[in-house]
Amino acid sequence: MKQGLLRQLPKIDDVLKDRRIEELMERIHRETVVDAVRRSVESLRADILDEKITEASEMKLDSMIDRIIKAAEELDKRSLRPVINATGVVLHTNLGRAVLSEKAVEQVAKVARGYSTLEYDPEKGERGSRHVHAEKLLKDITGAEACMVVNNNAANVMLALAAIGRSKEMIVSRGELVEIGGSFRVPDIMAESGVRLVEVGTTNKTRAADYENHITEDTAALLKVHTSNYRIIGFTEEASLRELRELGDKYGIPVIYDMGSGLMVDLSPWGIREPVVTNALKEGADLVLFSGDKLLGGPQAGIAVGRSDIIARMKKHPLARVVRADKMTFAALEATLLEYLDTGRALENIPVLRMISRPEEELKEVCLKLKGDIDEIMDPATGRPAYITKVQKEDGVVGGGSAPDSKLRSQVLVLTSEAMSPDTIEKLLRKGEPPIVVRIHNEKVIFDVRTLKTEDLKVITERLKEMVSE
Ligand SMILES: *Cc1c(COP(=O)(O)O)cnc(C)c1O
Repeated sequence: MKQGLLRQLPKIDDVLKDRRIEELMERIHRETVVDAVRRSVESLRADILDEKITEASEMKLDSMIDRIIKAAEELDKRSLRPVINATGVVLHTNLGRAVLSEKAVEQVAKVARGYSTLEYDPEKGERGSRHVHAEKLLKDITGAEACMVVNNNAANVMLALAAIGRSKEMIVSRGELVEIGGSFRVPDIMAESGVRLVEVGTTNKTRAADYENHITEDTAALLKVHTSNYRIIGFTEEASLRELRELGDKYGIPVIYDMGSGLMVDLSPWGIREPVVTNALKEGADLVLFSGDKLLGGPQAGIAVGRSDIIARMKKHPLARVVRADKMTFAALEATLLEYLDTGRALENIPVLRMISRPEEELKEVCLKLKGDIDEIMDPATGRPAYITKVQKEDGVVGGGSAPDSKLRSQVLVLTSEAMSPDTIEKLLRKGEPPIVVRIHNEKVIFDVRTLKTEDLKVITERLKEMVSE
C-alpha cells in the first residue's frame, strides 16, 4: 500500500517542467524553486510513511504546485524588507528610523552600481579622502569651521571623547547621564573611550558653578548631552551652552555638545521644541555631535561639526578607521544635505520633515479616503460592512528618541470589527506581505496616516479585504 503510493510520488524533474513552476522561475531563483519542490515531495513522502496520506488522490499535482509556489515565495523572502508603518511614529527605531528622500535613494543606487570617487580625486588623478564628500555642504549649512562623518552618533561621541580627553577628565551634569536607544549609555561610552567621568550637580538641577567647582588641570572638556529622549520637568535647572562657553573661555577648555537629533531647521511652528545645530554652534559649542538618521532625515551616520583642530584630532585617531562611514552613507548624506540649501525644498523633499509638517487638514482627508475604501468591504456572512471605522483627532509623536514632549496634531482612523478582535486584526496585518504595523489603543486598531505613502492605502484596504474572506 505505502509502497504503491511512494512509487506514485511525482518526480522532481517532472514537477520542474510544469508550466506554473517554469513561470515561477522567472521571478524566483531556480535553486530556491528546486529547493521548494524537493521539500514538498519530501513532505509528501513523510505523510505517506506516517499514513497521513492513504490514497493517490490526496497527492494531486495541482494542489502540490500551489503549495510549492507558497513555499518558494516564503524561502525567497528577504529578512530585511519594506514594511508599511501605520503607527504615525516618524522616526521609528525598529522600522529603520529616517525614510530617505528620493534624491538620496537615487544617489545611493548610482554610487552602489559602479565604482566611485570615494577615495579618489579625479582632478589630481591621485588618492583622495572620503572625508571630503559631505564637507563643503555641511560647512555651508551649519557655518562650522570643520566637520567629519562616521558610522553613527554613538561612534561619533566615542571617537570625539577618545580624541579629546583620553586619560583625562570630562565634566557632565548628573541630569544628562542618559541612556539612549537601550544600549548607548553616556557613562559607559565615556569609560570605553578612556575618559574619566566627573559627575556634577543633581538629577534635576545643575548650575554653571557646579561645573566650575570641578575644573582642574586634568579637565579635558565640558560635555553637554541633550536629553533627547526624555525631559526632566518641574523644579529643574541646567547650565546653558552660553554659560558653559563662558567657563570654557575662562579656563581654556572646549565645550562638547552631544545633541543627538541633528535638527537643521526650526520646527517650532509644528510644535517641535528641539535644539537646532546652527544655534548650538552660535551659542558656543566647540563641537556638536548628532545622528544622520534622526531629525536630519538622512542615512545612519554620526556627524561632528565644529572647531578644525578638534576635528583634525578625531580624523587622525586610530578609532576613526574603526568607525568610518561607507560610500552609500556619503551618497545619501550628500543628497540629503543638498536639499537643505533651500529650507522650503527641505521641508517638501525630506520625508522626515515632510511627515512632521503635514497639516492636520491633509491628514484628515487621507483618513476619510481610507475610511471610504474600508467601509466598502462587506462581510459575506452578514452582508454588512466588515469593519466599523471612525476618523478622530489624536496627538502623535516624532519617536526615535527625539522631541519626547512635543505633540504632533494628528487625525487617525480608528477601526474595529465584530468578527475579529483588535489583537487578531493587528496580527493578520503584521503577518501579511508587506507587514503592516499598527497600534492598538483602547481595544481599537489605530491607523495613524502621517507615516503612510499614498500607495500604502490600497495595500491596507486589500489586506483588510483578504482578512475578511479568510
Ligand atoms: C540618538 C543619540 C545618540 C546615539 O546616536 P546613534 O546615531 O543612534 O548612534 C547619542 N547621543 C544622543 C544625545 C542621542 O540622542
